Amino acid sequence: HHRTRTASVVGALKNKKNTGLTPITMEIGVCEGLKDDLVREMVDDALIWTSLHGLVVGDKNDKRSGEVPGVGLVHAPFSLLPMSLPRTHFIQACELSTIFNDLVDRVSLDGEFLQESLSRTKKVDPFTSRLLDIHRKMMESDKKEDIRLGLHRSDYMLDGATNLLYQIELNTIASSFSGLSCIVGELHRNLINHYGKNLGLDSRNLPLNPSISRYAEALSKAWNEYNDPSSVVLVVVQPLERNMYDQHWLCATLREKHNVRTIRKTLTEIESEGVVLPDGTLQVCGKNVSVVYFRAGYSPDDYPSEAEWRARYLLEQSSAVKCPSISYHLVGTKKIQQELAKPNVLERFVENKHAIEKLRKSFAGLWSLDNMDTVNDAIEKPEFYVLKPQREGGGNNIYGDDVRDTLMRLKNERSEEISAYILMQRIFPKESRAYLVRDGICRSNNAVSELGIFGAYLRNKDKVIVNDQCGYLVRTKASSSNEGGVASGYAVLDSIYLT
Ligand code: ADP
Ligand code: MG
Ligand code: MG
Repeated sequence: HHRTRTASVVGALKNKKNTGLTPITMEIGVCEGLKDDLVREMVDDALIWTSLHGLVVGDKNDKRSGEVPGVGLVHAPFSLLPMSLPRTHFIQACELSTIFNDLVDRVSLDGEFLQESLSRTKKVDPFTSRLLDIHRKMMESDKKEDIRLGLHRSDYMLDGATNLLYQIELNTIASSFSGLSCIVGELHRNLINHYGKNLGLDSRNLPLNPSISRYAEALSKAWNEYNDPSSVVLVVVQPLERNMYDQHWLCATLREKHNVRTIRKTLTEIESEGVVLPDGTLQVCGKNVSVVYFRAGYSPDDYPSEAEWRARYLLEQSSAVKCPSISYHLVGTKKIQQELAKPNVLERFVENKHAIEKLRKSFAGLWSLDNMDTVNDAIEKPEFYVLKPQREGGGNNIYGDDVRDTLMRLKNERSEEISAYILMQRIFPKESRAYLVRDGICRSNNAVSELGIFGAYLRNKDKVIVNDQCGYLVRTKASSSNEGGVASGYAVLDSIYLT
């Protein structure tokens, strides 16, 4: 029995006698099926703790919460207790982090591979096509990125049937929750320090999560390599960002620990306020920018007009360190993930045989849709597949009968649109009981979890300055939900209890 939420936790919570504690201020019917005062007491403690420790997001019920900091805050959705994970799987995922960091860098240098692999997608997907246009222009101008910074997050699910850890995807742009996830870990540590005896849990089994400090350190080192003490880090943001505190945690740490200043701008603002000087220096509002950290720009919605595309191109042309560069961004597409999983492709980029073995072991089944056998199999057994477009941010994938319907339509129309997608083997993680807290309300659910490992990579020409695993993210969702995003409203933040 791997990765069931520690059986003793649920047992302890359910069997606990009524202790006569005052009911806390939550709606009637919270913690469905659980009348236990211990859970109520823990939820109450947790809600207070999140408010006192900045585990917060903007509240969608408050119009200004995505724009004005300090207004309309609500606790980030969280799981009351950490997910159990065998230590071996945690170590496996952490070890993969530096290998994927290397792989991204190597693949990013092969511009023709990126262009070629995405050439059919380009024809049918206008968004990917625009990214490829910028990438092509950079190739043609022979622009070299000497300083390269990647802040990636590789996501995994533990397959229930085989007990193997499979990569879901690798995010190379705007990898989120490095700010909030380590605070969730602290919340769980705090709760288990208080209630561990009642629960049969020991907080020493919670692995440390240095995600904020390591990401801030990597950004500060990139700032340092650029070597302009007057320069700032530019955080490219969406105009409305309810997950802004996750970003502010990182920016505050950069300022307080490393004395590095950040400015926040949307692509629209950058288009009107930014310039690239003849020597390549990027200036925004008169400030020199050494590092451009994208927390926007990964979705078509981020480019409502030509202005935003001009801004993206401007940033790419500058000598500032781009996190990510257009090449790193493209390496993170699902199409490239699928191409890398083909036989003999990894070998083009990785020399180390053990590294190749470890990477391959983490690859689930991935197929392009030129393979009619796979398409027909997916039409017959859609429940075993996920159909994925080249999109980020959650909510874009196709599951179940919709896989069949979409594939039948594309097949019958002989539509080229089929190249916009890849097919992936559907992973079925083992379910366990979890208490998911959202909007101050706790619900007990059958849940599944997704583990993300943050990774940072920084190099300057031949010198690798950082290649680190930088902590983790766990997102847990009701098993009835297909998608898994926290920001998109499907999942809650969680942490790990090693077994
Ligand atoms: P995005 O870039 O939008 O986050 P993902 O590939 O991570 O795209 O898919 C979004 C969510 O869909 C994941 O968080 C996960 O919950 C679910 N998902 C994706 N691929 C699979 C899969 N192969 N098996 C099961 N669930 C999946
Ligand atoms: Mg993604
Ligand atoms: Mg994802």
